[in-house]
Amino acid sequence: MDDPIFRTIRTEAGEGVTYDCGCPCTPTAIPAADGYAGSEHCCCGKVHFAGIGAAERLDAYLAERKVTKRREPEYARGTSSLGFDGRTIEVAWAFPLDA
Ligand SMILES: [Zn+2]
Ligand SMILES: [Zn+2]
Repeated sequence: MDDPIFRTIRTEAGEGVTYDCGCPCTPTAIPAADGYAGSEHCCCGKVHFAGIGAAERLDAYLAERKVTKRREPEYARGTSSLGFDGRTIEVAWAFPLDA
């Protein structure tokens, strides 16, 4: 699996971070007003966080799912960063290995 390529996208809810998911969606993580990471978990099972603390928040999110979901996949994971609104922000992603 190639690492996803993230890019910024302007939405009605504000500036966000997306990638080509491979499904019909445009999953967009919008950082909170304070800069802390926002996330989107796409219907196809891929999840990404963008903003301050993205990797830590993804860790916590996946750990929570592991104990609460009956069938939780294994994920390929990675981090990235990109220019966003004049600064650099952190992106963390987890894509199901069987997707
Ligand atoms: Zn989707
Ligand atoms: Zn998707």
